[in-house]
Amino acid sequence: MAKIALFPGSFDPITLGHRDIIERALPLFDEILIAIGENSDKTYLFDLDQRVAWIKEVFAHEPKIRVVTYQGLTAAFAKENNIQFLLRGLRNPSDFEFEKSIAQANRQMESDLETVFLLTSARYSYISSSIVREVIRHGGDYKVFVPDSVRIA
Ligand code: ADP
Repeated sequence: MAKIALFPGSFDPITLGHRDIIERALPLFDEILIAIGENSDKTYLFDLDQRVAWIKEVFAHEPKIRVVTYQGLTAAFAKENNIQFLLRGLRNPSDFEFEKSIAQANRQMESDLETVFLLTSARYSYISSSIVREVIRHGGDYKVFVPDSVRIA
């Protein structure tokens, strides 16, 4: 059976940290679905189409990657699509605490769903989409934090 991983997130916008985790996970899986969750309670800086377009451009030459959007519970979406693995990145102890609870809750709901964690590369571990958004809002040089395809007019 093909090993398929789901990498869920907001990607508002995709950063070098996200790209690093995805690229390093590629040898582990047959396919990686980058899944942009749409949460009606959240407000985003960039609309969904823009976030999808940026990610598609980053991985345009990578046949093992697909970009999808979803609503609702990540674990339910994974089950509906016969996905066995969730992929998450860990930057620091607070990511670990947060991710541990989510992974354990997901496994309680879907016992076959295994979460795989990769440690972020040290040079990207300080990058978060929220910091990048703050830099963008204030006109700073966001380009050092994001892949080249993320360009704001
Ligand atoms: P969320 O909406 O869940 O906060 P994000 O889009 O911020 O989603 O992140 C999605 C995934 O990418 C999470 O597993 C997160 O830990 C990981 N991630 C975010 N930033 C980095 C980074 N700089 N290095 C490694 N992983 C990261």
